[in-house]
Amino acid sequence: MKDFLNRFFQGRYGAYGTDKMTRFFLLVAALLLALSFLTPFAILYYFAFALLFYCYFRLFSRNIPARYRENEFFCKKTDKVFNFFKGFGYNIAQHKDYHIYKCPDCNQKIRIPRGKGKIAIKCPKCGKEFIKRS
Ligand SMILES: [Zn+2]
Repeated sequence: MKDFLNRFFQGRYGAYGTDKMTRFFLLVAALLLALSFLTPFAILYYFAFALLFYCYFRLFSRNIPARYRENEFFCKKTDKVFNFFKGFGYNIAQHKDYHIYKCPDCNQKIRIPRGKGKIAIKCPKCGKEFIKRS
């Protein structure tokens, strides 16, 4: 059976594992599927099915360069969005231990550890000094 699968996947895009685009689409398909059951929007079921079908089409495709380019395109388009959410989580984590101040002169963001009382902050960009409570 494993041999059969190996032979079946040989020369197909899915032989190299799933790419980011496939993983993302599978995740969205799973979400749509769940929503189609939990909400009155049963039509989402068909969208989920279409997405799944598209994922399989890509995995079984023999046109590897085309699939590779699709994934590159997808990554390029979505990296900004993913990074935005990553940065968002990072900022929340930072908020617990740090204050983020803006330099009054040049608006440079400066990260100061919390709980140090009143301190003089020197802007690393323009050298302006200002007092803040941390
Ligand atoms: Zn400054």
